[in-house]
Amino acid sequence: MISQIAVSDRLHRPLQSLRLSLTARCNLACPYCLPDHQELPGLLDQAQRLALITAACSLGVRRLRLTGGEPLLSSGLESLLAAVQSRRLEPADPLSNLLEVTLTSNGLLLSEDRAKALKLAGLDRITISLDGTDGISVAEMTGQQGGESSGAQILHRVLEAIRAARSAGFDPARGALKLNSVIQRGRNEQQVLPLASLARNEGLELRLIEYMDVGNRNGWTPEAVFTAEEMVRRIDAVWPLVHQGRSQASTARRWRYQDGAGWIAVVASISDPFCNGCNRLRLTADGMAYTCLFAEHGTSLRPWLVPEIDAEGLMCALADLWQARRDRYSEQRLSADGSQPSSDLTARQEMAYLGG
Ligand code: SAM
Ligand code: SF4
Repeated sequence: MISQIAVSDRLHRPLQSLRLSLTARCNLACPYCLPDHQELPGLLDQAQRLALITAACSLGVRRLRLTGGEPLLSSGLESLLAAVQSRRLEPADPLSNLLEVTLTSNGLLLSEDRAKALKLAGLDRITISLDGTDGISVAEMTGQQGGESSGAQILHRVLEAIRAARSAGFDPARGALKLNSVIQRGRNEQQVLPLASLARNEGLELRLIEYMDVGNRNGWTPEAVFTAEEMVRRIDAVWPLVHQGRSQASTARRWRYQDGAGWIAVVASISDPFCNGCNRLRLTADGMAYTCLFAEHGTSLRPWLVPEIDAEGLMCALADLWQARRDRYSEQRLSADGSQPSSDLTARQEMAYLGG
């Protein structure tokens, strides 16, 4: 029997959500992310990943998101999902606390067979990332040198992935299939309306994300942030919106289309930070724990994973880490002077390593 105890941090925020990265590698090179193309040394195996998920669930985690890099590059994805699912069904298991298991992916490798296998293995929801609706903007936002035609090929594959996910049973009407779009001023802000139109036609909730100052490769400047307010204003002018608010601990503020065509959501980490409800722990593919996307330091959990798994020690280490947590970087950034990063950029980790 594994002990279970819910933990909260110094700012009384409970640990409830785990983002587990399966790889830092990616098959795209989005300029705001710039991932590695080589695998990390010390990639965790399935037993180690399950030990991390178990420890996190024992401390209160109820939502698990599998991410990366590109998580579909991980050959262990389906078997991990299946192992998680079988334990979710055991009432005494900490994993039975999981309300949902989700995946964020660029969709390139999401064939019909893969989508069906993921559904069968127990995945509840998929969020697919796409930042443009034509070859030129997709090529630019995915870092392709081949220009319009390579962008058009990627767009085609992502649209096919959306269809594959839908036909595998990920129903957008139930929130099981959504679209993520990062909007960067000077790069793809002209894509806000086309993306909204695409999502409306496909019946998908569009989650528009402000360009964030994560990592130190992307050359972020405050001027490159196209704010959530600007995104909403653009869409509202064409398809009027009704504000629905932000639910507790959610990253997104939601809006409903007045004409009944569904919802959009905006993730405004820069202009409207949500640190006060942040309940997310990030674990990297090589076993580092980060309590904030903008953290300068992580904590290695490898001493409790290698050479052998020490489940009790792992749980204590995670509990100590969470209970000492005080991160509220985005709020501090905003109160400093409205935009400038205040932490040491060179010490920051990259988004594809942290898992987004
Ligand atoms: N490769 C997968 C994908 O793109 O969906 C999963 C990993 S990716 C790091 C997770 C999410 O983070 C994506 O929706 C991506 O667009 C977003 N993201 C990456 N870098 C970002 C940045 N600098 N600002 C805002 N969002 C970012
Ligand atoms: Fe890859 Fe996702 Fe980063 Fe784009 S955002 S480079 S798809 S990890």
